[in-house]
Amino acid sequence: MKIKKEKARERISFLRREIDNHNRRYYVENKPSISDFEYDLLIHELQSLESAFPDFKSETSPTIRVGSDISESPPLKEFRQVPHKYPMLSLSNTYDKPEILSFNERIEKILGSKCDYFCELKIDGTAISLTYSGGRLLRALTRGDGTIGDDVTFNILKIPSIPKEIPQDSVIKDFEIRGEIYMPWDSFDKLNAKREAVGEPLFANPRNAASGSLKLLDSSEVTERGLDALFYHIVTESNNFETHSEYLNWAGKCGFNLSANTKLCHNIDEIFEFLDFWDSGRKRLNYPTDGVVIKVNNISFQSQLGYTSKFPRWATAYKFKAERALTRLISVDYQVGRTGAITPVANLEPVTLSGSVVKRASLHNAEQMKILDIHLGDMVYVEKGGEIIPKIIGVETSSRDYTASAPTFPLICPDCSATLVKEEDEAKYFCPAYDSCPTQIKGGFLHFCSRKAMNILAGEATIDQMYRLGYIHQLSDLYKLTKDNLLFMDGWKERAADRFLESLQKSLSTPFYKVLYALGIRHIGETSAKNLANAFGSIESLQSATKDNLLSVDDIGEIMAESVLEYFSKESNLKVINELKDLGVKFSSDNSDTFVSDKLKGMTIVVSGNFSVSRDEIKRVIEINGGKNSSSVSSATTYLVAGEKMGSSKKEKASKLGTVILSEDEFFHLIR
Ligand code: NAD
Repeated sequence: MKIKKEKARERISFLRREIDNHNRRYYVENKPSISDFEYDLLIHELQSLESAFPDFKSETSPTIRVGSDISESPPLKEFRQVPHKYPMLSLSNTYDKPEILSFNERIEKILGSKCDYFCELKIDGTAISLTYSGGRLLRALTRGDGTIGDDVTFNILKIPSIPKEIPQDSVIKDFEIRGEIYMPWDSFDKLNAKREAVGEPLFANPRNAASGSLKLLDSSEVTERGLDALFYHIVTESNNFETHSEYLNWAGKCGFNLSANTKLCHNIDEIFEFLDFWDSGRKRLNYPTDGVVIKVNNISFQSQLGYTSKFPRWATAYKFKAERALTRLISVDYQVGRTGAITPVANLEPVTLSGSVVKRASLHNAEQMKILDIHLGDMVYVEKGGEIIPKIIGVETSSRDYTASAPTFPLICPDCSATLVKEEDEAKYFCPAYDSCPTQIKGGFLHFCSRKAMNILAGEATIDQMYRLGYIHQLSDLYKLTKDNLLFMDGWKERAADRFLESLQKSLSTPFYKVLYALGIRHIGETSAKNLANAFGSIESLQSATKDNLLSVDDIGEIMAESVLEYFSKESNLKVINELKDLGVKFSSDNSDTFVSDKLKGMTIVVSGNFSVSRDEIKRVIEINGGKNSSSVSSATTYLVAGEKMGSSKKEKASKLGTVILSEDEFFHLIR
């Protein structure tokens, strides 16, 4: 069944708005909120609708324009914008091999003959165009909107591998060379570790990190980011060579970094072999790649094939897929989480994904369902991300039945029937009945008992049974359970009851910061609970803190401060705290609860030289902030904290390995 014209118009304008937003997040802000595959599905859907309804075609559609990285607002406005002499275009792309066959057929049809293809890895960085005049580097421009780019020459000069001039005897001296500025994986990991330590937002991937670094206003910082470049295209009016590979060869001799991982393919089988090899082989590389670019090698064939407004017709990108499966959506359930968040969960026709059978997948929230425009019976793409439960990332629109109904998001909690609420800046709907909704109450107990909180031996089934028997309703009820109560429970014997009671007794010595975390105050995770415990020392002073007091604590922002105030404004919460206190739970820090933060978690640090405090003091600070001390610099070293009169060998080794060197002030700034 075909989509109706009115519905198509609405969907087209929705998709254009949505894609424009994703373009801004990806190209300008460097903070994408969906995966490339999800983005490409939206583009694909828009393309199909635009060709089915040509009346709605538009010159400004994102299917026709190249995504722009030019920002209108300061501070990026500081970059001078310069027109490109030759447009910088994008590449058509596909995730499917049959489309590579069609690409080849189209080309052979236009050329009327077979041709060779040059296959290169698609480097996942940000495009750059360098202009050389008389053999000297004149200018470096980003892709911008394809016609005008930002002049980032000053930053490019900080990348050591880029030749500032080429050999004087070169056969070509005036040309543009295009390539990718990328961030190697090790530099990316280091940069994010450093940002995490100082509480700065992390980059989602090396592409965004490279593109953000290239637009830094402080060139000296660019040097520290460890950017590099690989080049893949030469634009020149000289006709010295007949093929793309010969031009690349020449560029290599001039000193440009080229990818070593290329292949001249004479037929489709050789192309597929290259694709298969690099689909797994790329994981061993120190630079990020997201596919293979397949290019017609002969330059006169390239000219014959020409360009669309967005892509060359003589090249295409085959993108590597994360492991995903296509299956049918049967129905949608709505689950209540511990904090009351409602998550739509799809029931699917069983499908095998990464070796296990998947029957359910998350749909995230109502907004995501709207973006996917998901309908019951749709064929959907399921992917295993970092989470245990797989997620639905797209709909195969070509097989969509538009007469099928879209699932409706409930207005009331599926568990307790309270009317759901959605705050303006939240993507999720919530059940507000946190103290009467059974799922939330049980979730609160599970969180309280978890290992990172009070470490009480009670899992989901135990909590569920205790709740059903009416034993527990508020947290303090746990400490009132008797052995007889426990022995009455299904499957509980003497030993289990004793072990549970022992863990309950032990939990009374849980340090205050863990107790604070165990209370399950919304938005307060382990680290913020530690920071609050450290800043206030006891529940009484935390309870009487003002919003300003809270905001002055490390990492506590507006939303967390509001949440703490709201928690303590509820009589029922104060009552539970008082009862827990009377039962012996610790609500203040003492000397045994040395405060620790996670700021240096996973980092190995070498301290060397003389400081304003003793070296042992600095080492202690590293330990209580989760870091590991080491006496020698190696590739595993995250930072070298350098004091006065530091040994020169450590410094040299650190510089050689690219280890970040911090002064005493910088170190304390890092953990502050
Ligand atoms: P692209 O990244 O898919 O392909 C074109 C680019 O590939 C070129 O501009 C060039 O910079 C690069 N490239 C790398 N190696 C190359 C090689 N060997 N030869 C030629 N070019 C090479 O295209 P694009 O227009 O920059 O971006 C569109 C893509 O970006 C989308 O398909 C999507 O995957 C992604 N995107 C994602 C989001 C998101 O929110 N996740 C938003 C916008 C775009």
